[in-house]
Amino acid sequence: MALLTGRISLRDVAGGLRKKYADNLWDNASDVKPALRAVLLRMAPGVLGCCMYCGGYTATDIEHFEPREHDALKTFVWPNHLLVCGPCNSTYKRDWWQCDEESGEPLLIDPTRDNPFTHLWLDFRDYEYRGLTRKGRSTIEVLGLNLPERRLAAGRELARRNIRTVLRDWDRGRQQADETSMRHALAVLEGQPFADVWQAMLRQAVLPGAPVVMSDEPPEILTLLRDEELRAATLIEFPLELAPSEEN
Ligand SMILES: [Zn+2]
Repeated sequence: MALLTGRISLRDVAGGLRKKYADNLWDNASDVKPALRAVLLRMAPGVLGCCMYCGGYTATDIEHFEPREHDALKTFVWPNHLLVCGPCNSTYKRDWWQCDEESGEPLLIDPTRDNPFTHLWLDFRDYEYRGLTRKGRSTIEVLGLNLPERRLAAGRELARRNIRTVLRDWDRGRQQADETSMRHALAVLEGQPFADVWQAMLRQAVLPGAPVVMSDEPPEILTLLRDEELRAATLIEFPLELAPSEEN
């Protein structure tokens, strides 16, 4: 990919020549794309490989975070690649690109380096996201994270119900010193779509206002969400280490 980026950099920007050359390389990169997709798939959440933007749909498309239309030089730059679902890629994000005028920061959460919970709050009353920052609000808007037609809120609600069942299984396994049941429960947690719901539950459960904010959470579930052993096994800390060398 570095070699291809080098080749692109030699092309003139004028007249769209660089962009045209990069597009052609990308469209014909049959030797690069399968490997790229395979590495991204290992990083995507859920057993089916869920979308790195919305977390709910199966990821099918290699997406350029900074669109090739904006900077052709980013066509083959590793951290600029994500694995996302068709709707996020083709219907919502598309070639959208906008940065904060002062900081130059993109107004879209970058799953490879941003902590999404700095920018987004999952409201467990309606399973919609609220933006905590300008970047968060813009991300919700661009990706349509709360749009009824995407049915993401319904998916998040279902995920939360499943998580409660799995937590009870995990706890029963622990009481019976049944490590296999505990391991299976954790595999179900990690394998299901909407990893964001589980991570939001873990984070909100330890806030001072948790009993109010998560008032419909059964008390035994709230206790489990605060359990140190479970948190150590499943809480994802940011920033993530996403270099491909780390995976091998
Ligand atoms: Zn998506």
